[in-house]
Amino acid sequence: MEVMFDSNTAEFVINTPCESAQKYWIGGAANHATHTVVFSQLEINGKNLGVHAFICQIRDADGNVCPNVRIADCGHKSGLNGVDNGRIWFDNVRVPRENLLNSVADVSPDGEYLSAIEDPDKRFAAFLAPLTSGRVTIAVGAVYTSKMGLAIAIRYALSRRAFSVTPNGPEVLLLDYPSHQRRLLPLLAKTYAMNSAANYLKMMYVNRRPQSNKTIHVVSSALKATLTWHNMRTLKECFEACGGRGQKTENLVGRLKGEIDVQSTFEGDNNVLMHQVSNVLLAEYIAVKKRNNIFKGLGLEHMNKPCPVIPSQLTSSILRSSQFQMDVFCLRERDLLNRFAAEVSQRQAKGESKNYAFILSYQLAEDLGRAFSDRLILQTFIETEETVFAGSLKQVLGLLRSLYAVICMEEEVAFLRYGCLSTDNDAAVRKEVMQLCSEVRPHALALVNSFGIPDAFLGPIAFNWIQANSWLSVDQ
Ligand SMILES: Cc1cc2nc3c(=O)[nH]c(=O)nc-3n(C[C@H](O)[C@H](O)[C@H](O)COP(=O)(O)OP(=O)(O)OC[C@H]3O[C@@H](n4cnc5c(N)ncnc54)[C@H](O)[C@@H]3O)c2cc1C
Repeated sequence: MEVMFDSNTAEFVINTPCESAQKYWIGGAANHATHTVVFSQLEINGKNLGVHAFICQIRDADGNVCPNVRIADCGHKSGLNGVDNGRIWFDNVRVPRENLLNSVADVSPDGEYLSAIEDPDKRFAAFLAPLTSGRVTIAVGAVYTSKMGLAIAIRYALSRRAFSVTPNGPEVLLLDYPSHQRRLLPLLAKTYAMNSAANYLKMMYVNRRPQSNKTIHVVSSALKATLTWHNMRTLKECFEACGGRGQKTENLVGRLKGEIDVQSTFEGDNNVLMHQVSNVLLAEYIAVKKRNNIFKGLGLEHMNKPCPVIPSQLTSSILRSSQFQMDVFCLRERDLLNRFAAEVSQRQAKGESKNYAFILSYQLAEDLGRAFSDRLILQTFIETEETVFAGSLKQVLGLLRSLYAVICMEEEVAFLRYGCLSTDNDAAVRKEVMQLCSEVRPHALALVNSFGIPDAFLGPIAFNWIQANSWLSVDQ
């Protein structure tokens, strides 16, 4: 897309210069939207001023497409077909000067460019800042749908019996099989932990200031990616954990899974977002080292302290200590940031550009992005737990926090690969996962009920599904 300013008429002229510049996937565009906000490069008198945002009418009030605008439907999708996504081409569409969203920069009637932000990169970031709300709502929404999937699958596992382990003994509830606990309860613990992180993100967004743009960008990018990946994985596991009944549309999990897949792509592809997170962490690292300064913000203050020491033998009580859990998560993040900075710098020393050195170091960048997110999630969960003063609730939250911590250690290979955990310690972690699952098991129903999901959002499988499938329920 390109936008030129015509100072003769004080109008912006919006144009799609080639096919690959068409606006694709625009929500509401195919059938309904009357106006759109176009993000486009702005050029005045041959000078490119970077991306700016313009309001443009694309349909009149009767739904007719405006002159010089072409719109086509994106077609049937694998999910989210309730949204009419469209493609838009602009053929020199003229909009008045006032249609520039001018909180960051403005253009006078005679074409003078005015902005208080000199640095083009900072201006770009300021223009894109309003888009953060999309990432915040997607991250928060991902936790809600994980809760729905887990409530359905866990309630089913507490009513469905399969096989007995003793001759003529009662059949065993699915959730009493340790393997079934291992499939669902760590996802439940992660969902609780991520709920704290989502609340933290919401409050950070509500209290935002211009100077917090960078932090919100990093935190919302990291959490959007992590929480939506978790959501997709959770819904997939819950779908399978409901067996054949998961396939029934009325039981919702399959439908949610189909609708939700796109979360990893829109409002920023998850992989690309994670690269951006590591990019910002690296820039912060370089700035601190260059000025011999201390880390401040982004939760990296732990980098100013001495490196944590991990005990050579991990007992159950050490593994359940929040201090130990934070230590090992911080150690992994610190180690990966050091390694990532070293690898990029070595590649630069061999003659690669900074950008290409970063691109080549993608493995560490991705490990680091996950380490940043996991540490942030654990930190917010510990803060939530600290607001609960006593009693069984605190004890259950402690179990969930420990299960979250040990499952991350078990699943995230970077803990072992970079030596934060020895193989002996890794074996202790694995054992603790199983133990914690069995201790969370008695609380499973209360934990999913406490999500407060209305019955209508759970589907028959979460209730008396035998009665719901009885002959009497058949239309006769
Ligand atoms: C249902 C739906 C609704 C949408 N709604 C809107 C909307 O309302 N408004 C709007 O403006 N947009 C909308 N989008 C667009 C959406 O934001 C983009 O599809 C998304 O940002 C990914 O861009 P892309 O499709 O060009 O993917 P591509 O850029 O083609 O990416 C393909 C793959 O390549 C990888 N990749 C891309 N670049 C890099 C890189 N630099 N380094 C490493 N890997 C890379 C990505 O990880 C991805 O897996 C919507 C998309 C969908 C599917």
